[in-house]
Order: sequence, then C-alpha cells, then structure tokens
Amino acid sequence: MPQTFTYQFDTPTYKGTSSFSTGVFINGKFIDGSDNTTIDVLNPANGKLITQVSEGTPKDVDYAVECAQKAFDTVWGLNCPGTERGRLLYKLADLMEERLDEFAALEALDVGKAYNFAKGADVPGTVATIRYYAGWADKIHGKTIETTQDKISYTVHEPLGVVAQIIPWNFPLTMLSWKLGPAVAAGNCVILKPSEFTPLTALLFAQLTVEAGFPPGVINIIVGYGNTVGEALSHHMGIEKVAFTGSTLVGRKIMKSAAESNLKDITLELGGKSPGIVFDDCDLDQAVNWSVHGIYFNHGQVCAASSRIFVHAKIYDDFLAKFTERAKAIKLGDPFGADTYQGPQVSQQQYDRIMGYINAGKEAGATVHLGGERWGKEGYFIEPTIFTNNKPDMKIVREEIFGPVAVIMKFETDDEVIAQANDTVYGLAASVFSKNIDRALKTAQKLRAGSLWVNCASHVSPQVPFGGFKQSGIGRELGEYALEHYTAVKAVHINLGHQI
Ligand code: NAD
Repeated sequence: MPQTFTYQFDTPTYKGTSSFSTGVFINGKFIDGSDNTTIDVLNPANGKLITQVSEGTPKDVDYAVECAQKAFDTVWGLNCPGTERGRLLYKLADLMEERLDEFAALEALDVGKAYNFAKGADVPGTVATIRYYAGWADKIHGKTIETTQDKISYTVHEPLGVVAQIIPWNFPLTMLSWKLGPAVAAGNCVILKPSEFTPLTALLFAQLTVEAGFPPGVINIIVGYGNTVGEALSHHMGIEKVAFTGSTLVGRKIMKSAAESNLKDITLELGGKSPGIVFDDCDLDQAVNWSVHGIYFNHGQVCAASSRIFVHAKIYDDFLAKFTERAKAIKLGDPFGADTYQGPQVSQQQYDRIMGYINAGKEAGATVHLGGERWGKEGYFIEPTIFTNNKPDMKIVREEIFGPVAVIMKFETDDEVIAQANDTVYGLAASVFSKNIDRALKTAQKLRAGSLWVNCASHVSPQVPFGGFKQSGIGRELGEYALEHYTAVKAVHINLGHQI
C-alpha cells in the first residue's frame, strides 16, 4: 500500500493540513510502483526532504495504457457524450477551487514559488483553464462539405485514444491543466507524468478526479524519471500522441522516439530566449514594470521569459536606472512570506546551471550590473541579476538560462533591433513597448515568435493559443487550437444514389 503524505502547514500566510496518497495513480486507484521504489521530494527553500513518493516504472506505464485503452473503448471516447465530459471537468474545477489555498501551499512548498503568487495566479489559472475546456467538451464540431458529386460529405473530430503528457517542474499545476484540459474535453484518456522534482499537486489533483466522478482509467498520473517512465511513454506502441513541455534536448529525444515507435503524434513546447524591445516612445514606467515581470516572475523559470531586453539608446540610461531600482526591491525569501516575490530556484541542478551561466557571462566580459550571487545560507536562492555590456555571441545572450538573469542591450534603429531580436534559434515569444501603434504593430509583424506581447509580457490566457516558432516547439496549446492536437478528422461520404 502506498504511503499517505500528511503535512501540517503553519506558515505566516497559510495554516492547514494537506493529506493524500503518494502512490502511482492508475485506473482510479493509488498503487505502489511495480519496483516498490520511491523518489525523494525536496524543499527547495532549505534542501530538506519533504516526503517520498512512489516511483513509477515502464511496467506501470504498460498497465496504465491497458487500463486507459479499456476506458476509452468502453466508457470514454465515443462512449461518453461531450456534455458529460464537460460536466465532470466543471466538477473537477469546482473541487480544485474549494482547495485553492491548499494547492497554492503545496506548490509553494514543492516548487519554492511564492505562496501568494501561486494563490493569485497558478491555481486560479489552472481552474480557469479546466473550466474553459469543460465548455468546449460538447462544442467540438466537424463540417458539412459540398462536392460536385451526388453525395453528402461531413467531417467528425474524434478523440485520438490514449495520449501521454510529460510536464516540467516550473508550473506543475498550470502545465497539467494546459495538457489535460483539452485532451480530456476532446474524449481522450490520459497518462500524465509530472516532473520527478515537483509531483505533489498532481497527486492531490489525482485524488480529486475520483471525487469528481471520472471513470477509472480516463486520467492516470505516474510520477517517475524521464529516462524510464518518460521514455516508456514516448516509445509505447499503444499511445497515440505525446505532448511535452521542457527542454529542447528532451524534445528532440521524444520526437525521435515517436518516429521510431508508432509514428505517434507530438506537440512540443520547448525553450526560448525571448526578446523584449523597448522603444523610446514607450510609457517608460509601464515598460519597466512589465519587463521586470517578464524576466523575474517565477524566478525566471519561465519558457517565455523576456530574457533579452533591447532598449533604445535615447532612454537606455533611464530605463536601466528604473529597472535596477525595481530589481533591487524584489523581496527574496521564504515562499510563505507575506511580501515575498522570489523564492528559491527549484533544485540544486538548476541553481548550479544558472550560476554556471552567470560565471560564463563574467568570463566573457559582460558586466554584472546587479546581483550575480547566491542569496541566503540555505536553499537554492539566486539574487535578481542584470548583465550589461553584452555582445551578441555571448552564451548568456544566446542560450536559455531559466533563472533570474536579465541581459540588457542598447539599440539605435528599428531594423537593427528586429534583426537582433530574430537572431536566435528560438521563437517562443517577444514583447514590444511603444505608444506608437504603427511602430509597435509593424515590429510585432516582423518578429518570428509564437506569442507577441504589445505593451506587456508573459501575459497568457486560456482562450489564446501559445506555442513556438523555430526550435521553441511544434503545435499550440490553449485556446481552440489545442483541440486540433487531440482530435483526428474523419471524413464521411454518403452516396445519394450514384451508381457504378
Ligand atoms: P527536462 O526537459 O529534462 O524535463 C522536463 C520533463 O521531461 C520532466 O518531466 C522529465 O522527467 C522529462 N524527461 C526528461 N528526460 C526525458 C526523456 N528522455 N524522455 C521523456 N521525458 C523525459 O527539463 P529539466 O532538466 O528539468 O530542465 C532543463 C532545462 O529545460 C531548463 O533549464 C530549461 O532551460 C528547460 N525547461 C524548459 C521548460 C519550458 O517550460 N519550456 C520547462 C522546464 C525546463
């Protein structure tokens, strides 16, 4: 029998108890992983053990696929009306909302993000995304198509079957909802693998799927490592699609596994090195506020982070002074502190990786204008950092750092900055700040990125698609567009008497 995790929160911002099973969740039940091994879950604020959760295995993946397929063939997919799928998703969203504070506290404990931020953004955003897709469940229509022949033709958008979803640690709940919402609404059965670093909220979520009344096998959650469970999912012959968010390196591996196995469908949401362009005719205070949010929110652990900031020469000094003042004022510390904005990075690995980039920037001759050091004595905290005097070929300008590190550069002309902004293998997002609508929109049109934010940054909504150009990914999440990746189009031709 898997262990139950019970945690008593007694923090400045949240007091309460959380309790749920730490097992592998398959066919509506928590069970031990087939090898009876566990994964340590650490608190990034102090590096100490929070709990251990069951480690899933490739054998568990086989069992989950078998159960999910059975559910798809009998009680889900074409056997369950969209209205009912929507009702269950609405119920699930309501149950999550009732425990919003508890979810936020678990996310703060496990990921290190500020409790108040998780409570105000991550968890409500998750609930909103699930509700948004609940609304879609009975509105997934095909078309009637006219031809020159004597027949009626129409299309039906059918679910794919069993789909796998592999998510990262930076937004455990948000990513879960972006993946699971459209998949389940469209009638697929899901096997989701949370990151081995941050599994807690997915396990509480699993428990709520039972309370909401989802039939066993529709939603399965297996915590495990990438090179075991992740690879088993992407190689599996019984899985029709893999949706992945994470590093470009692993995205390539998943694409290869999909090609080598059953040519399963894939969507990939990968890295970025997104530019923010601040023109001299912007609202300077707002441009500073959004740029600070764009790079420092969630401690820079955001795929769409506005990490390369290009500022027009005329306002460069003013922008830098205001940006520095705002970055200096960021309150680091206990994720449960009432005014904490920035907690620790998620793990020792991420801490080391980011410090490696900071050292690479120093060695390459960039100037550490602010920060660049560890903060505090324990945990994985890094000071908000600003690099100036950057050159286009430096590692800190070209590669995704995934930490609280802003790289600020000066530009003179519109053409020059557009060329520099597009000089990257990535294309996830970009921001443009200007009060001149022609200039802002012309620039936005020329930038090669999947999300263009005019006078804002990292501003996502469940209704609007999100995804990358170039090596930032394949396919789109959110909005109506995501449903296309979870349905197959069937064309039906009805002969009205044509004889041969
Ligand atoms: P990762 O890509 O290794 O991990 C993401 C998910 O993929 C996890 O669930 C992991 O277990 C799984 N995974 C790992 N190897 C796998 C494999 N061979 N097959 C299938 N699944 C596998 O990311 P990471 O190591 O946690 O972070 C490394 C870097 O990735 C970060 O520094 C950042 O640059 C980037 N990243 C990007 C995002 C994003 O939102 N785009 C999220 C997390 C990390």
